[in-house]
Amino acid sequence: MDGLASPGSQEKEATVATLLTDGLAMLEQAGIDNAAQETVWLLEAALASAHLVLRLNPHRAVSSGEQARALDLLARRANREPLQYLLGTQEFCGLDFEVTPAVLIPRPETELLLDEVVRCLPSGRAATVVDVGTGSGCLAVALAKAMPSVSVYALDCSEAAMEVAGRNIERHRVGDRVHRRQGDLFAALDQLELKANVHVVMSNPPYISDADWAGLQPEVRLFEPRNALSGGPDGIAVHRRLLESAHEFLVPGGLLVMEVGQGQAEAVCEHARRQGRYGNIRIRQDAGGIDRVVCAELSTNAK
Ligand code: GLN
Repeated sequence: MDGLASPGSQEKEATVATLLTDGLAMLEQAGIDNAAQETVWLLEAALASAHLVLRLNPHRAVSSGEQARALDLLARRANREPLQYLLGTQEFCGLDFEVTPAVLIPRPETELLLDEVVRCLPSGRAATVVDVGTGSGCLAVALAKAMPSVSVYALDCSEAAMEVAGRNIERHRVGDRVHRRQGDLFAALDQLELKANVHVVMSNPPYISDADWAGLQPEVRLFEPRNALSGGPDGIAVHRRLLESAHEFLVPGGLLVMEVGQGQAEAVCEHARRQGRYGNIRIRQDAGGIDRVVCAELSTNAK
């Protein structure tokens, strides 16, 4: 840390420019790929100023409070805390979502899952959708925004996640059509009159296998909620449970759509086939050519 500004080093007056230089050095030294851009984003947050304002006023002195805030954020990022938790937001489907360490940070590939749901639901017709493991609520909220005739039950076992989802539902003003329920998997639906009444069950379940856990980036492994990531020994334990219970809630012909990890799609399809209740079992690939989403329709003659 020699030569870098720190709360104790008073030898030079901190300005926007010195914070930019020092911040960049801290993040580069920590091996952060996008260090220049991330430094700017963190300073924007710490100084509550837009990037251009910072660029236009490089010699503006920063107060000791601003400096402390900036150095705290930079040090936490250098320690691999995800940028999104430090800034408190992540964009998903063009919408801004609050994120905290209680929820998984929404990923761009998850938009494919929503694309499949929107493709399958007739537009303008009322439909009931269940989002299992809603986390931040990104899928439930984005679907409700895209399809005004749809109602969504957003389920999660984590109380802390439910609170974040609640704030995102409020932020995007879809509280009339997105209903939160806390409980394991479908447990919270048992009291509702939803058996055989759901048109789509969508889920981005945890799918990291035990073997892949140690290889995750530190941002993910050390900071994102483990119960939102860890999918048991082979990574598809929750997919199996979904396939084994979604049929109780789906209408005949209803759709189960699940995100899967790389290399898992075939095993999930095989488990779907083994249930004997689903037809039109298919896989969709993401922009990187990876099998990413598995869809299965409840057969019309299934019980
Ligand atoms: N549904 C949320 C998402 O897709 C959370 C998923 C999870 O926690 N596994 O980001």
